[in-house]
Amino acid sequence: MARTISILGSTGSIGCNTLDVIGHMGGREAFDVVTVTGASNVRLLAEQAKTAGAKIAVTADDDSYGALKDALAGSGIEAAAGRVALIEAASRPADITMAAIVGIAGLEPTLAAVRNGGTLALANKESLVSAGHLFTRAVREAGATLLPVDSEHNAIFQVLEADSRDAVERVILTASGGPFRTYSREQMALVTVESARAHPNWSMGLKISIDSATMFNKALETIEAKYLFDLQSHQIEVLVHPQSIIHSMVGYSDGSLLAQLGPPDMRTAIGYCLAWPERVRLPVERLDFVALSRLDFEAPDEERFPSLGLARNVLETGGLSGAVLNGAKEATLEAFVAGHIGFLAMSDIVGEVMVGLSDLGEPETIGAVIDADRQARMAAGELIAASRQ
Ligand code: NAD
Ligand code: MG
Repeated sequence: MARTISILGSTGSIGCNTLDVIGHMGGREAFDVVTVTGASNVRLLAEQAKTAGAKIAVTADDDSYGALKDALAGSGIEAAAGRVALIEAASRPADITMAAIVGIAGLEPTLAAVRNGGTLALANKESLVSAGHLFTRAVREAGATLLPVDSEHNAIFQVLEADSRDAVERVILTASGGPFRTYSREQMALVTVESARAHPNWSMGLKISIDSATMFNKALETIEAKYLFDLQSHQIEVLVHPQSIIHSMVGYSDGSLLAQLGPPDMRTAIGYCLAWPERVRLPVERLDFVALSRLDFEAPDEERFPSLGLARNVLETGGLSGAVLNGAKEATLEAFVAGHIGFLAMSDIVGEVMVGLSDLGEPETIGAVIDADRQARMAAGELIAASRQ
């Protein structure tokens, strides 16, 4: 019998890959699509809804309602728009939800899906970074199954032996190092948005591609790993591995390291989550080790990539520091993309905001997380404005 699935952020990079994987897993015979959601790309959203036979399509963008309704006219598919509609649609029962909205905008819809108690395939790492404890508590309370889509965490999930949790010494998150892995600070100061978004190995959305260039993506992922796998700061290591073939590793007390390897193609991690606990056949490239011939490794450089040190702070202090880091990071990224600040200013400003907002305690509610995010954006906005005078 077909399982029901909702895809939050279906028009994005992860969302499109998810629909592709669903196609390879039997399409409508295997999955009944409940919800698809997007933002301004209404044409693609409507096309996806019709092809997948979704019940409802939601655009987060209020102004796009008319266009979505017109595009779905006669199809019998419900159209809706805006934040409230998005959260309502995310809360409709589904066996599986793919949470693939980008940024803090994904927090409330993702939590609404968690509360259903089904399986949550989590790509929206910002939810865990900003609201770690509250998020994992909501998962436990709902009895939901949380499966990581992020390739590193998916790798760790694959090699984490349930019976040997006490024997886990460390996890090693691999990082490509991004397009500026070999750049000096002087060179980084001058890079353009175009060069920052050009990831050497992975094809991804704009935000995560730029986050890879600053290594904020890896910074977020260390925090994501802490909450997903209940780890201490000293158990989480970052290793630069430019080929992105080893997706991450778990080190055990007997000296064993278990790794998951594969081509850099998100469909493997997505398919793993959709088929779990089984495996699916996917047309991804098969690794040829002779052709690869070598795999390289380097220590990460926190001087050139200060984002990693900022994440270490969050791992150690907890509370709302993750929400502050993420909120400030999103604000500076937008300013960089708009051409208002240079590349290096992103981590400089995030660091300053974190110092200024270091006394926010442990959040009791999601409202407190959203408030910390807002405060961090405002503080970053002031520093951005000051730097432009
Ligand atoms: P993307 O930019 O390609 O797509 C984002 C999706 O979110 C789109 O459907 C977009 O319409 C929607 N969206 C954007 N703003 C929104 C808003 N304000 N409200 C509601 N919806 C909104 O992003 P992506 O690369 O697919 O990444 C999605 C998530 O998955 C991110 O959290 C990212 O960190 C994570 N992730 C992505 C990859 C990847 O390969 N792309 C890998 C690992 C993790
Ligand atoms: Mg990743």
